[in-house]
Amino acid sequence: EAREKGQSGLSFHDAAKNAEVFQKLSLEAHLRRAVELEQFEVFYQPKVNVATDTIVGMEALVRWRHPEMGLVSPLEFIPLAEETGLILPIGETVLRQACMVAKRWQDEGLPPIRMAVNLSSAQFEQPDLYEMVLQVLDETGLAPEWLELELTESMLMGDAEAAVVILRRFKRAGIHISIDDFGTGYSSLSYLRRFPIDSLKIDRSFIRDVNVNADDAAIATSIILMGRSLKLRVVAEGVETKNQLAFLKVMQCDEAQGYLYSRPVPADEARKLLDRN
Ligand code: C2E
Ligand code: MG
Ligand code: MG
Ligand code: MG
Repeated sequence: EAREKGQSGLSFHDAAKNAEVFQKLSLEAHLRRAVELEQFEVFYQPKVNVATDTIVGMEALVRWRHPEMGLVSPLEFIPLAEETGLILPIGETVLRQACMVAKRWQDEGLPPIRMAVNLSSAQFEQPDLYEMVLQVLDETGLAPEWLELELTESMLMGDAEAAVVILRRFKRAGIHISIDDFGTGYSSLSYLRRFPIDSLKIDRSFIRDVNVNADDAAIATSIILMGRSLKLRVVAEGVETKNQLAFLKVMQCDEAQGYLYSRPVPADEARKLLDRN
């Protein structure tokens, strides 16, 4: 114990802990500043209809353009953004940009596509979330039928009764609801039926080895079949290979998304993908 203490009297553990806290504080300060400076960019990744091979949707994925660090992945800052509440202004910015872009593409005569935006649990717990979303649609002029919100199972299962109420409001407004990373959380299937949802996204972890792992293939197949019988659109995420796509075609999965088609790209590149569609 004594040997572990340095001259400062702090144990290595304390020092490491302090460094961690310091790093977090400094990241938080940077993140706060990034919100003020509007350093967030939205990239778009297509969702493709498996049967027709056409783009039917895009998913908005946020990136932080840091002056020194370059493009920072959402995996690195969304958790802290959630913890600090900064996800609220960030999430609203992403929603506004995504709706603006979708509306602009429609005005430019491109075939309309569904624009999907990820919601975090902190956003989902905001009592005025519904009003905020409708306000953004109103400001940008995007019709609600072209907006899809991606939520996770854990967000819905936390307070399932409250979730049903808000999802019904979105549904009545014409907004689509999708369950992201499906299969990784704990959804009760009976609740799943009560939620007015439109689509399920099979988590990437089941798609990765779908051609070689019989369990993953069984899970993916079950989700596709369940989706079909509940009349939900099923989307496979993380599709990287032709073999994975072939599996999804045979199983008649509705849509696929992944590097095989395109990585998430900036708006102007996404527009080019739509142009060729
Ligand atoms: P997600 O919503 O499940 O998004 C899918 C993630 O998988 C994206 O990572 C995407 O770039 C990546 N991906 C797509 N296709 C492939 C593939 O074929 N192979 C592999 N290996 N990866 C693929 P990204 O953009 O880093 O986002 C990570 C997560 O961060 C998202 O997972 C989402 O949960 C969250 N996120 C991103 N943008 C936002 C946002 O605006 N708001 C909120 N609340 N969360 C966001
Ligand atoms: Mg998503
Ligand atoms: Mg996902
Ligand atoms: Mg995911």
